[in-house]
Amino acid sequence: MWWRVLSFLCFELVAGLLAWLAAAPTHAEVTELEALALGVLLGGLLWFLIDLARGARVLRWLRAGDFSDVLISTGLWGEVSDRVRRLIRKGEQATRDIQNRMQDFLSAFQASPNGVVLLDAQGSIEWFNQMAATHFGLDAERDMLQHIGNLVRDPGFVNYFAARDYQSELMMAGRENTALRPVRLSVQLHPYGVGRLLLLSRDVTALEQADAMRRDFIANVSHEIRTPLTVLAGFVETMQTCALDETERERYLDLMARQANRMQTLVSDLLTLSRLEGSPPPSSSDWLVVSALMRQLEQDAQSLSQVINPASEPRHRLQFDCPLGLEVAGAASELLSAMGNLVGNAIRYTPAGGEVRVKVLLLADGRAEFSVSDSGPGIAPEHLPRLTERFYRVDNSRSRDTGGTGLGLAIVKHVAQRHGASLKIDSTPGKGSVFAIAFPAQRVRSSAAQANSADQLAMRL
Ligand code: ADP
Repeated sequence: MWWRVLSFLCFELVAGLLAWLAAAPTHAEVTELEALALGVLLGGLLWFLIDLARGARVLRWLRAGDFSDVLISTGLWGEVSDRVRRLIRKGEQATRDIQNRMQDFLSAFQASPNGVVLLDAQGSIEWFNQMAATHFGLDAERDMLQHIGNLVRDPGFVNYFAARDYQSELMMAGRENTALRPVRLSVQLHPYGVGRLLLLSRDVTALEQADAMRRDFIANVSHEIRTPLTVLAGFVETMQTCALDETERERYLDLMARQANRMQTLVSDLLTLSRLEGSPPPSSSDWLVVSALMRQLEQDAQSLSQVINPASEPRHRLQFDCPLGLEVAGAASELLSAMGNLVGNAIRYTPAGGEVRVKVLLLADGRAEFSVSDSGPGIAPEHLPRLTERFYRVDNSRSRDTGGTGLGLAIVKHVAQRHGASLKIDSTPGKGSVFAIAFPAQRVRSSAAQANSADQLAMRL
């Protein structure tokens, strides 16, 4: 500011002096004092015009809006333009920061596994993320600023939106819901700001399915336990109230023992399943000699065939084949349980005199296949996809008569999955079935050198 006063005074002084000097030697009619006054006046006018021009330049520069160059670097107008430029730069930086923050928030919403829709006070869509687009079938270009009620037409949602009571969530079908692939959404509106609404949606299909499965499972277990318990209770009551002769007593006790066994087998299978679900995956470095597993399976198969057909002779024709020196990495108890279930099923479902073949093959791609084939009744194709479901039975009475729990193949599937193996079922009604577990090459090794020593060791064990 002082420079401005100083420059003005300098202009006045120089102009006045020049005028005075110009007037002095001429001795014209203009006195030196008048010349001085005129010079000062002209000096002031010139200073004002220059100042006006600088001010006008700054104004033009401000109007043009391009602040990249420094326009005037000196004087009051220089400082004004410099401060304006700095203020504008600061404003631009603040706007950029806000935009970046905003982008971060939107990216966070976009990354959310839940659907997010922002609605204005009228219920029109201001923004939504990709998940909401999938849940409600929204299109970013077409549906922005559309009323949500026009796009989500589910009657439950329309009523929920209109009722303006958003305390609880709403369960509704998702846009891609079909009878074959149900999609269930949990939807809730949350008021925020001035009349605005945040619409959150969550895919709860898996949760609902898990819940339904849990309910079914409990109902099935209760049913499976209630049946033998009712029979047992009935026999106990009969024995308490009726006078029975020795033969009848023996028969009743035998039937009671069978029901108790059935419950024991069921509880044992349930425990096996829960252990499989809760325990860490089987080690891939514990190598098991397959021929030793096969020997164990063969012994169990012989005794089961005898128990099931005590009177009939011949019972089942059992055949076990396994190459020597083959090893599989995994948990011995789990593999014995899975393989034992397959062999047990083949014996239980194949009538006496039928054939059951159990073999292990080393496949060309390094996998090993354990298979059980029987000459039993076979299974109709429509049952095959559901066989490994818990408590699924093709023939309820045959399964129960032979001590089945309906959990055997569920256990087999679990064990196979835990070992990275696949379970394949082939069956022709009236001809028989083949159940095969193929172990991945990483879990299989075969060495002729190890064969003898490993087998000898296994024999000694
Ligand atoms: P279960 O304890 O009833 O045998 P599983 O889960 O082991 O239960 O088997 C499911 C159903 O598959 C059985 O009830 C039976 O109907 C059918 N099944 C299993 N293995 C055979 C087989 N080898 N031959 C014919 N049907 C079989």
